[in-house]
Amino acid sequence: MADILISENIRGDAVDTLSKRFNVVTMPDLWRDPAALAHELQGTRALIIRNQTQITDDLLRTANDLIVLGRAGVGLDNVDLKACEKAGIIVTSTPEQSTISVAELAIGLMISLARQIPQADADTRQGNWNRQRFGGTELHGKTFGIIGAGRIGLATARRAQAFGMSILAHDPFVSRDNVFLAELNAKVVTFEDLLDRSDVISCHLPASPQTVRVINATAFARMKPSALFINTSRGEVVDETALVDALKSNRIAGAALDVREAEPPAKGELETLSNVLLMPHIAAFTREAQARVTRAICEDVARVLDGERPMNAVVAPPASRNGSKKG
Ligand code: NAD
Repeated sequence: MADILISENIRGDAVDTLSKRFNVVTMPDLWRDPAALAHELQGTRALIIRNQTQITDDLLRTANDLIVLGRAGVGLDNVDLKACEKAGIIVTSTPEQSTISVAELAIGLMISLARQIPQADADTRQGNWNRQRFGGTELHGKTFGIIGAGRIGLATARRAQAFGMSILAHDPFVSRDNVFLAELNAKVVTFEDLLDRSDVISCHLPASPQTVRVINATAFARMKPSALFINTSRGEVVDETALVDALKSNRIAGAALDVREAEPPAKGELETLSNVLLMPHIAAFTREAQARVTRAICEDVARVLDGERPMNAVVAPPASRNGSKKG
């Protein structure tokens, strides 16, 4: 019986350290089989997941010994937080640890799109020397729009500013006086304004019922024909059918996606287009970010098992919690 069950591919020094104090069982494919997961959770006090394990009310109903759920990463769209709260399960996550890596990938995608780096490389490897075809566009002096001005949106905007871009931000939950936006000299604008005015649009929204497919045909119709669209947040926020239409008709100039509506996606029309860059959800998968994420989640789970308060609780411990569900 495990103290701590890991139901996805999470490894590293921090897991080894945790294993010295607790019985840690890693089953990287367990997330695929909810019945097997429910079975393994019997007698388990802690579960560590990424974004693939679905934590549902049904699952938690039988997980009577579970006291803490650790989500290694950002975004809790695979976790029914209300069900966790109802079951008295503490949920912790790692909100900060991958911010820099995601921002760096967003910037990498922006430069790749502006200068057509992957396409020029592929073409040159074929023996061609197409200097006119791959001229591209400069970023300096252009407008960079962030949809969602949270941790990653701001970190990405900060880097875009270093290229001499001016910053627009849309986020109904930040004030116009937000100090981080003020530092960037960013203008807080409406969603429509941002779509109309940005040369590069970078999406950093959480997945929620309010954000599903907000980047749809209407949104693409407002963008400049020269616009470059980047999504490193969640696939659900983009209507991929509308994106295919926008790219095929040159309604926008290019797009780059790290995340997809379905992951892994079925091979479709998007994969056939030359003005889109497709990544397999790797923004947070740098060595550094993964080491930070794994260490933070292992330490927080250990804290709870030791009866201490976690650092990054999303669902906080009940006041009387002391490391044992029964105690
Ligand atoms: P965050 O919570 O710091 O920021 C999200 C921002 O979006 C908040 O400021 C919030 O006010 C804003 N927001 C919410 N609803 C909005 C709406 N309808 N319109 C405009 N703004 C809205 O989160 P973060 O750490 O910056 O992460 C952003 C996204 O990146 C999340 O979806 C997260 O899951 C995703 N992410 C992806 C990867 C990856 O590997 N590609 C890695 C980490 C995070």
